Amino acid sequence: MINEFNPPQRILLGPGPSNVEARVLKALQTPILGHLDPEYLRCLGDIQKMLRAVFETQNQVTLSISGTGGAGMETCIANLVEEGEEVVTCVNGFFGQRIAEMVQRWGGTPVRVEAGWGQPLDMQQVREAFRRSSARIVTMVHAETSTGMRQPIGDLQSLRDIRDAIFVVDSVTSLGAHPVSIDANRLDASYSCSQKGLGAPPGLAPVTFSERALDKIRKRKQRPKTWYLDIDLNDKYWSTDHLYHHTSPILMNYALREALAVILEEGLPARWERHRSNSEAFVAGIEAMGLRMLVSPEHRLWSLNAVCIPEGIDDARVRARLLNEFNIEIGSGFGALKGKVWRIGLMGSGSTRNNVLLLLEVLRKILREEGARIS
Ligand code: PLP
Repeated sequence: MINEFNPPQRILLGPGPSNVEARVLKALQTPILGHLDPEYLRCLGDIQKMLRAVFETQNQVTLSISGTGGAGMETCIANLVEEGEEVVTCVNGFFGQRIAEMVQRWGGTPVRVEAGWGQPLDMQQVREAFRRSSARIVTMVHAETSTGMRQPIGDLQSLRDIRDAIFVVDSVTSLGAHPVSIDANRLDASYSCSQKGLGAPPGLAPVTFSERALDKIRKRKQRPKTWYLDIDLNDKYWSTDHLYHHTSPILMNYALREALAVILEEGLPARWERHRSNSEAFVAGIEAMGLRMLVSPEHRLWSLNAVCIPEGIDDARVRARLLNEFNIEIGSGFGALKGKVWRIGLMGSGSTRNNVLLLLEVLRKILREEGARIS
């Protein structure tokens, strides 16, 4: 006999998912509709309008892909990159690396521009790589979740004097927490996820494509090899024709709709300000304890805060104590930062002054008990 699953109530302060508000969870329990029901199509229309507001874009093709953030990444790469095409790929952490791998798997040739994990990319090096290559696509991760580093995506504009290009930006850990400003930054394609700054459960990947990006896709020599993630086929379901493509995840889209409504009710500037001030309060508390942040202040994310683990402290033991004794989840470092940092997510409904104060107090207690010298 398998009993009903009753998971514990955790405070999710890791790299995602973040906690989901009751109002959003409630949407998951409302009656299911058919995926071509006019009422459901109205829900999708609402999502499109609200996603445009949150991405800050007028892009017609703005919708949620059925799948997690990685499906959003693959949608952008598989549709835009053609066989043999060079793509300038900025890599300063795990997710930049993943984009490079995807470019390669979809037949492109990544021209990598690298910086150390937690270090900003040097735009001069990006310019040089772009100038020397034949690339018509440049990819960048806005919020590198593996390090807590924020890359200024507006700087991509400085490449336009060399030649025109399609700028693809990963906004998985920034959308809903930081301004992404697709149109003001003249970005052409971006993908995100439902489970971080947007405050819905994991399972959907919002994407947006500019006319210029769509034009490049229309002019491909061969259609994209992906069928499921083909942006044209997905758009034909979402836009006025509503042609069947796959059975839309109905309840997940209800949840996304509600999460977006919550965001717009709060207002984007107020939401960004909440994320900024809670992150800064957290950093002030961490530094007051004598601990260090990995990333320099001007490049720090508000949504993901990487704290250097003090010498001699057992990373896994501290995280296990937080989870088992206090029901608090935080993230470990991985790749080049394995065992070196804790990744603290303050995103969506998790970015509150209460969570900041609670985590600081609990961390101080555990670290003292574990023998760290902290003030
Ligand atoms: N890109 C970034 C920057 C991420 O942080 C993540 C996941 O954390 C992804 C892509 C992939 O998203 P998902 O795990 O939802 O597939």
